[in-house]
Amino acid sequence: MNREAVYPGTFDPVTNGHLDIIKRALQMFDQITVAVVDKPGKDLLFTTQERIKMLRKTVGNLSKVRVERFEGLLVDYLQRRNIFVIIRGLRAVSDFEYEFQIALMNRKLNSEIESVFLMPSQEYTYLSSSLIKEVVKFGGRMDGLVPGIIEKALKKKFALTK
Ligand code: ADP
Repeated sequence: MNREAVYPGTFDPVTNGHLDIIKRALQMFDQITVAVVDKPGKDLLFTTQERIKMLRKTVGNLSKVRVERFEGLLVDYLQRRNIFVIIRGLRAVSDFEYEFQIALMNRKLNSEIESVFLMPSQEYTYLSSSLIKEVVKFGGRMDGLVPGIIEKALKKKFALTK
């Protein structure tokens, strides 16, 4: 049996924390689909196309990972793709309440779908895309927190380089 899972998120932009979760998920599943949410009106730095492109460049060498866009209800997307596992990352207690709510709602919407929570390596537990954006905006260093190409893309967005 081919074990597949979807790792959904905004990925604005992808960080080493997300990559840590993808690598852990690959130890449990044969194929991971990273599903990038396309939600108009969300206050994001990068467009959906940019977020997908950056992810593809970052996980391009991992043959068991594909990156796709999705819109609408996550459970409907999984059903269409015939996948029944959702991967989410848990950093701290603060993530728990929100994730718990979403997981139970998804279960209510489709009881065949299970959510699996993975914890990243400790050094990424304080890391979030939003925090990264704040730090870069004010010229802070991102060593070891995002892949090199993401750091470049962020600096370009904030016009810190030509
Ligand atoms: P969303 O808007 O769906 O929360 P994110 O891109 O912020 O999208 O996060 C996607 C998933 O990755 C979430 O489950 C989130 O908890 C997890 N995640 C984000 N950053 C990290 C990190 N540093 N370590 C582990 N998991 C993370």
